[in-house]
Amino acid sequence: MSTTKIGWIGLGNMGIPMAGQLIKAGYQVTVYNRSKDKETALKEIGAMVAETPENLVSQNDVLVLMVSDDAAIEQIFNGANGLFSTDVSGKVIINMSTVSPAISKEMATLSKEKGAQYLDAPVSGSVKQAETGQLVIMVGGDETAFEQVKPILEKMGKMAVRLGDTGSGNVAKLAINSLLALYTQGLAETVIFANQQGIETEALLNLINNGAIANVFTKIKGDAIVADNYKPAFALKHIVKDLNLAKNIGLGSPLAKTALNTFEAATAKYGEEDLIAVIKQVKG
Ligand code: NAP
Repeated sequence: MSTTKIGWIGLGNMGIPMAGQLIKAGYQVTVYNRSKDKETALKEIGAMVAETPENLVSQNDVLVLMVSDDAAIEQIFNGANGLFSTDVSGKVIINMSTVSPAISKEMATLSKEKGAQYLDAPVSGSVKQAETGQLVIMVGGDETAFEQVKPILEKMGKMAVRLGDTGSGNVAKLAINSLLALYTQGLAETVIFANQQGIETEALLNLINNGAIANVFTKIKGDAIVADNYKPAFALKHIVKDLNLAKNIGLGSPLAKTALNTFEAATAKYGEEDLIAVIKQVKG
């Protein structure tokens, strides 16, 4: 059993299974979540609970964040009872959320001033991969800090790779999610086109999933379309956030612009549903 103690912030769709993997691997994990109903499942498998991010700091060596967006990061670091309300020296702070490289650079600088290390370490993969420790983790920041926490990351992911300085993990993640957006809209448009021409969804997906363009994504999201199941693994509102973050750092290709328009138009109705709910928007 590892003696490294971990403080975990953010128990959303991803945070719960990711923190669960660490507990199952034998780490002592204390969790914090803004709303207070989400710790139950982790408490049952041994997690302790903290009332504020600040309360997590002194008892833990490594602090991991898995929350929505830049605003949440700002709140958790600089807000009332945030991480920077107390002495963070000597801690390694790993931000696994999909956020901007700019906020990572800001928090990394502040962390360094206070004697802590900050790594951006966003993940590729969704709830299924989180539940089985099969995420792909891309890291920016100090190499020594990365090597120190790599064994922890490898409990959550099948690979953890350092790409370079602070923010490089975030940039890689935004690139990957722009492809995710294109895949999602592409799959939705393809299914609708086939339906309009008289081909059943299930028959089409059976062909796609046995052909050369099959992948885990077409299988999982194809099953969701067939089952009319839009329960969020990755909420549609988050891909809008990610496409906007990518746009802010220079992504302006025709496909990316189209995808952003489509997903933005879908947000009001389907923002809390899974991103494949965009098929309902595309269908009109
Ligand atoms: P989620 O289910 O929407 O959960 C979001 C978490 O962030 C919740 O714990 C929420 O707390 C917390 N949060 C939001 N605003 C906050 C604030 N101002 N202060 C404190 N906590 C705040 O999101 P998720 O699907 O787990 O995703 C988390 C991150 O991973 C996102 O950046 C997402 O883009 C990325 N990601 C997701 C997936 C996926 O498939 N789901 C895959 C890869 C990466 P409450 O419970 O109080 O709302």
